[in-house]
Amino acid sequence: MRRKVIAGNWKMHNDLKQSEDLIKSLKELLKDKSVNCDVIVCPPFTSLSEASKLVNGSIIKLGAQNMHFEDKGAFTGEVSASMLKSVGCEYVILGHSERRTIFDESDETINKKIKKALEQGLKPIFCIGETLEEREKEITKDVVMRQVEKGLEGISSEQMKKLIVAYEPVWAIGTGKTATPQQAQEVHEFIRGLISSKYGSDIAEDLVIQYGGSVKPDNASELLSQKDIDGALVGGACLKADLFMGIITNA
Ligand code: PEP
Repeated sequence: MRRKVIAGNWKMHNDLKQSEDLIKSLKELLKDKSVNCDVIVCPPFTSLSEASKLVNGSIIKLGAQNMHFEDKGAFTGEVSASMLKSVGCEYVILGHSERRTIFDESDETINKKIKKALEQGLKPIFCIGETLEEREKEITKDVVMRQVEKGLEGISSEQMKKLIVAYEPVWAIGTGKTATPQQAQEVHEFIRGLISSKYGSDIAEDLVIQYGGSVKPDNASELLSQKDIDGALVGGACLKADLFMGIITNA
């Protein structure tokens, strides 16, 4: 039985004080609740260190939103996996569609980042998903297959056990348009099949595949009750503690 994982991607929102307030509010809402899923928050880099202190001792785990694939060097503006580890991160989001489209990250770059994250003991949340144009051309599965094959090239079975996949149709991110539970389930099942043929059914069955794209408390329950949907990667709704808590409760 896979445990559901709800992760909040804060993107470029919240300065230090706002980050502290949001984590404190979430902790308050989670207090004394029995929660049946893992909860991850991914604040901006500038808040990670303080966020790490605040989540310590709670069920909330910490993730970052990106990292570089090199260990160190002349890469102005970048942070390394070991830097993220040093401020208490356990997870890192890699391959988010905003990184792919706005910052031109290729499947090859994402693959290097996934390898480095795993080598350094970080658990990647590996994002994949098609654009609206690709869905309309009916090539969703080809796109997802390419992203999985290239993104996971050279990743061993042991490493796969540490990784989360997030299926995020790009047309559903931040748009208020959610994939229907059936549309999402179809792609999730396809992804699990891809992993099964590459790594075997045991690893595929244990793999957490999150859905992301305008998840809100009122649509979470139906999405999360699909057989192959094991959690959510949440953008907009994770910036308000009560909305994020609503999704956690539905999981
Ligand atoms: C995301 O950025 O990963 C995301 C799913 O955003 P939203 O929930 O706002 O669509």
